[in-house]
Amino acid sequence: MKWGLFGGTFDPVHLGHLRCAEEISELFRLDRMIFIPARLQPLKTGRAVSPFHHREQMLRLATEDNPSFSISDIENRRDDKSYSIETVRHFLDNSPDGTELYFILGQDAFHEIQMWKEWKDLVRLCNFVVMTRPGYETKSLGSVFPPDFASLFQYDSTSDCFKGPTDNSIFFRNLTLLDISSTDIRKRIKAGTSIRYLVPGPVRDYILKQGLNPY
Ligand code: ATP
Ligand code: MG
Repeated sequence: MKWGLFGGTFDPVHLGHLRCAEEISELFRLDRMIFIPARLQPLKTGRAVSPFHHREQMLRLATEDNPSFSISDIENRRDDKSYSIETVRHFLDNSPDGTELYFILGQDAFHEIQMWKEWKDLVRLCNFVVMTRPGYETKSLGSVFPPDFASLFQYDSTSDCFKGPTDNSIFFRNLTLLDISSTDIRKRIKAGTSIRYLVPGPVRDYILKQGLNPY
């Protein structure tokens, strides 16, 4: 089995997230893509975030027509901030033997990885897929990791990835990155302007019905 783990705040989920999830599922022939909304994103403490149940429900509405997409509430079951290292360990312990995990994140998030809890362990624990934009690819890990740590990874041209000291690899993949962000969508909601075609229809209906109140 191959599972994708796609974490984020998803406040709200939008077509940028969904399109990339679809392309990665196809590229890596994933059996499941698991969206994992953060309860409390450690690096996003500066602003209020919509309650977990709203963000989770919008993800349900956005993914219900795709049988390989699912949602995990694991980060809401922990009291603490949502640390990816704990989430990955959870899935390593709770997946069939031999399951390959692919942790998915944008290049923006990857470039901040040294701020993440136990990041050196994390990047050796499972595969990573870094979503990149054509023309902005990270060509070497030297610009992200300290030199001694970067040297543990070797570029493998056959699979076009950086192979690490464990069996896991870091893949950079050019995807159709739609220029959409949740921040921009929240601004539009606040301004009372349209968010049609930025989020799936049912998510837009939900936002309008619930009167989600972005800050
Ligand atoms: P915000 O504007 O609130 O930061 P966001 O749109 O960046 O929201 P997040 O929930 O922060 O969404 O992102 C979750 C993950 O999705 C991160 O790994 C991020 O890099 C990635 N991501 C963000 N925007 C896009 C996009 N347009 N296409 C693909 N992936 C994206
Ligand atoms: Mg973001």
